[in-house]
Amino acid sequence: MAGNEVGYVIERDKFDKYLASMAADAGADIMVKTPAVDAIVDAGGVVGGVKARVGGRLEDIRCDFVLACDGFESEFARWAGMKDFLLPPPSDMVSALQYRLRGISCDRDYVDFHFGSIAPGGYIWVFPKSEGGGQRWHRR
Ligand SMILES: Cc1cc2nc3c(=O)[nH]c(=O)nc-3n(C[C@H](O)[C@H](O)[C@H](O)COP(=O)(O)OP(=O)(O)OC[C@H]3O[C@@H](n4cnc5c(N)ncnc54)[C@H](O)[C@@H]3O)c2cc1C
Repeated sequence: MAGNEVGYVIERDKFDKYLASMAADAGADIMVKTPAVDAIVDAGGVVGGVKARVGGRLEDIRCDFVLACDGFESEFARWAGMKDFLLPPPSDMVSALQYRLRGISCDRDYVDFHFGSIAPGGYIWVFPKSEGGGQRWHRR
């Protein structure tokens, strides 16, 4: 009932693969199953690359700059010595439950949001994913 278009529902797995294929088409090397385990920090505190686990062994991957997209907890920022990127206090964090459901009644053209006593201190939403199927988040 928001009265506006408020977003799109995407399949995150497919979306990430799509982005990766566009990056590869543009010339990027894609390395899956290659977790970064540390930053390479050169003299003067300059970040010169990434230490990563490649097929069971550690490798230094050097580069001119690192764009760390490792999520809101960003370990990389801390490895690189950016002390401001400490984890937020637990009071600033929320937990969520996710269910993938079948056989539910939902309108594919709408995302349902439920506030108030049904989800005290948080909210519930239902993302329609397919005919009769949806994904429900309960966040608080
Ligand atoms: C329950 C829930 C519901 C949400 N709903 C919405 C929504 O409806 N709409 C919306 O816009 N946002 C929503 N968000 C927020 C959204 O998911 C995030 O803002 C977004 O995913 C952040 O993107 P990101 O690329 O920065 O990090 P992420 O999506 O967290 O991606 C980080 C990636 O880095 C990888 N990684 C981490 N560490 C390493 C490492 N050491 N080496 C290699 N890879 C590493 C992880 O595996 C992950 O793939 C929701 C979040 C949650 C938890």
